[in-house]
Amino acid sequence: MKIARIDVTPLRVPLKEPYYWSHGVLDAAETVLVAIHTDAGITGFGEAMSCGGGHATQAFLEAAGRIAVSRDPFAINALLADIYAQLFATRGNLGGRRFAATVLAGLDMALWDIAGKAAGRPLHALLGGAMRDEIAYFGFPQGGEPEQIARSAQTWVERGAEVIYVKVGRGDDLDHAIVRAVRAAIGDRRLRVDANEAWDVLTARRMIRRLAPYDIEFLEQPTPSASLQALKAVRAHSPIPIAADQIAYAPEDVLALCRESAADLIVIGLHEAGSVAKFRECAAIAAAAGINICLHGLYETGISTCASLHAAAVIANLDDGNQFMNHLLVEDVIQGSALALERGRLPLLTGPGLGFELDWDAVGRAHERHRAHYGERTGQ
Ligand SMILES: [Mg+2]
Repeated sequence: MKIARIDVTPLRVPLKEPYYWSHGVLDAAETVLVAIHTDAGITGFGEAMSCGGGHATQAFLEAAGRIAVSRDPFAINALLADIYAQLFATRGNLGGRRFAATVLAGLDMALWDIAGKAAGRPLHALLGGAMRDEIAYFGFPQGGEPEQIARSAQTWVERGAEVIYVKVGRGDDLDHAIVRAVRAAIGDRRLRVDANEAWDVLTARRMIRRLAPYDIEFLEQPTPSASLQALKAVRAHSPIPIAADQIAYAPEDVLALCRESAADLIVIGLHEAGSVAKFRECAAIAAAAGINICLHGLYETGISTCASLHAAAVIANLDDGNQFMNHLLVEDVIQGSALALERGRLPLLTGPGLGFELDWDAVGRAHERHRAHYGERTGQ
């Protein structure tokens, strides 16, 4: 079997309500659909996270497609290494490592989808088999104001979520009011907060003192992702456990966090690691340090959610309050309700490959929204 062609389609899907976090307010998920066609008639689908409107990601995926044509779709490791080398390393622009990971992740998903469809087995079976038959996720309240977030949190509790996660890093008093209102709304449910890099070390220490009385299970990425030392310094004096997120992309990042004892848990997903294989390497390094992996969610469609679910199913040290975000969309681009939470959990997917069918009408609407918002990318 050979790769015949790769098609890339930028998508834009509105969120049900504005998404507030420390870096601003978002109104839509933007991704790039990757379709890898083979000469055997099997097509695999994946998605890459968009940035800068998606045209840059689209351009790199198209360039990767030209490298991939005529290659063996089962030789995933070598193909991704060649694409990285030709698009990034060979030209010396190694500063693109993290961007490269987001590009490669979309290709990797599509290649695994082909492998699974060819074998007639779900991806997790090709990875050695699932360690669990369901994945547990946190409830993710939305809203801008404390009362609104607290009402949303109460809804999550009523739906069976055992872990509630809220964004902070939006201002000291607002953060305090959010945490106080949410704690009052959720009773003794587990509560996690994520500052998304908003604080310097001193601010982090001050906010930890204010938030500690609300029984916070962990504080995620309080300090800028560029500084391992800052995260380490905060954790060294924090009564609240510390999770690392934006600082961790690659296995070497996970190794550094573990060696420096800078985190109690590591949040990472396919779009950071860049492939299922790298995600598993990250998990294995963390496991050796006794640290669990919490699956990261992004402004994703169900394509990423499905792919992530397979990868998470096969690692031993998975957290029980994982993140996914396609439920924030007004509509998904995949068919059916396989991703409907029950008691805060999603079951394993059993269909071949990544286990979903695209809703082509929804894909068309998402592409048209992207075109209307950003225009067509021109040039090759
Ligand atoms: Mg986070």
